Amino acid sequence: MDDALVRKVKKVKAIFCDVDGILTDGTIYVGPDHYELKRFSVNDGVGAALARLAGIPLALISGRHSEATVSRAEQMRITEVHQGSLNKTEPFRALLKKFELEADEVVYIGDGWIDLPVMELAGVPVSVPDAPDVVKDAALYITRTKGGAGVLREVVEWVLDAQGRLDSIMAVMWQQIYKAEL
Ligand SMILES: [Mg+2]
Repeated sequence: MDDALVRKVKKVKAIFCDVDGILTDGTIYVGPDHYELKRFSVNDGVGAALARLAGIPLALISGRHSEATVSRAEQMRITEVHQGSLNKTEPFRALLKKFELEADEVVYIGDGWIDLPVMELAGVPVSVPDAPDVVKDAALYITRTKGGAGVLREVVEWVLDAQGRLDSIMAVMWQQIYKAEL
């Protein structure tokens, strides 16, 4: 990571994230009566736990509404879930206000064209290897992990590592696992 990017990541206080293509590989299983299933990675649950322990708020911003996303967010204990807004800058700005953050204190992870306006606002826009080139070009960091395979966990660890906090937060997580409090 170059020095300029390290300086930006050190300022990060929150991580906001698209859902389809980031927490999933973009696949949606559709059954009768619009019943939907999505496949999520358990790794992102670990990432959410690390972020919680580090005091980094997480939020999901999805253009499509999906009950599968609501269920997964509950499991990950992510309470900020904003769905059904094709203009993602609106929930993004509302979240900044709610958490009293500046845009440059936020990582935004996205993979689609509709993420571009938010990626322009966020201090640290991040994308994934399988995103279209135009979206990857707008990102300051492309994860090694593909969408649906633990992107959020990689980004949480990447932020904590740049901030010199990864080892201490991991140690706290292990303590809590032993105490079964996580
Ligand atoms: Mg997406």
